[in-house]
Amino acid sequence: MSKPRVDLRSDTVTKPSAAMRAAIAAAEVGDDVIGTDPTVERLQELTAEILGKEAAIYMPSGSMTNQIAVRVHCKQGDEFICEAGCHIYNYEQAAFAQLSGVVARTVEGQDGVLQLDQLRGLIRPDNEHLVRTRLVCLENTHNRSAGKVQPYDTVAEICGWAHDNGLRTHLDGARLFNAVAASGISAADWSQHFDTVSVCFSKGLGAPVGSALAGSRDAIKEARRHRKLFGGGMRQVGIIAAGALYALQNNVDRLAEDHANAQTLADGVRAAEGVWLHPAEVDTNIVFFQVDPKLGPAADFVAAMEQENVHALALGPDVIRMVTHLDVDAAGARRAAEVIPKVAAQLAAGIRPPAHNIAAY
Ligand SMILES: *Cc1c(COP(=O)(O)O)cnc(C)c1O
Repeated sequence: MSKPRVDLRSDTVTKPSAAMRAAIAAAEVGDDVIGTDPTVERLQELTAEILGKEAAIYMPSGSMTNQIAVRVHCKQGDEFICEAGCHIYNYEQAAFAQLSGVVARTVEGQDGVLQLDQLRGLIRPDNEHLVRTRLVCLENTHNRSAGKVQPYDTVAEICGWAHDNGLRTHLDGARLFNAVAASGISAADWSQHFDTVSVCFSKGLGAPVGSALAGSRDAIKEARRHRKLFGGGMRQVGIIAAGALYALQNNVDRLAEDHANAQTLADGVRAAEGVWLHPAEVDTNIVFFQVDPKLGPAADFVAAMEQENVHALALGPDVIRMVTHLDVDAAGARRAAEVIPKVAAQLAAGIRPPAHNIAAY
């Protein structure tokens, strides 16, 4: 395959740039378990400042930040409310149940968006038969709803209601900076409605490893205990934190380019016969499209795209996901956008790709 590779499977596939690697190589390090790694300290301070919180803590993964947030807010036998398609519920092995004895109450949103009217009445009364409702978790942008940006006023309304009723709030902000770029609303403005916020450095920001949880000094002190319990205390962690720090300082403002490239991909889908965007509009860096079964399974569509060295992910029998990120430039996005109608036409004409195994996600 001589054509340059365009990898749209996820925004987690980015590799550290030469400049990021130089920052990593030069990182000052210490032992973060005893609180003496200056690079991770700087990363945590900057993250807290950007999110408008008192403190932040670096962790190996977004799943760990989310699960520790649930654990900070809930005790065994407590319940949290979340949207049915959210990452915390669907893609983290129900760790809240396995590790913390907490139960989730899922509510079906519209494209990942919950409305306050759906939540009123869900807080359980104080009664020994019942679990205790403690927490509301929201996700912004919403991964499974193709990077949907939550409506700001709805978020403010839900969190205001939660706090008025004695509940805590957590934001899974793995892609919060994409929401910032798309909405023009600052990360601190989004975050002010939540007791804790998690952000990922290894998605669109392009760092090799890590996420952070931000909140009050007390919440983060508690999170630090849980991080140790979960085996997430790391020693000379400045080595990887330097990549995250570089990402936060250099790769936030450019996310708008990823969104423009996602629009290019969306236009490619619109130009093709037998496929359609779902949802019809693309908010940020994630594009989902459906494939008419007459063209064959989504896996065949993806395999045919791979013949052109354009890599997407078949998420279901008829659904394909493409995600833009800092290792996909405008030329790559344009080429991918041309491949989509070409593949649709090939499949419609009965030209099948070679047999292929594709991992489901
Ligand atoms: C990627 C992601 C996470 C965290 O994933 P890890 O792979 O554990 O870092 C959490 N929430 C959302 C919405 C995500 O997309």
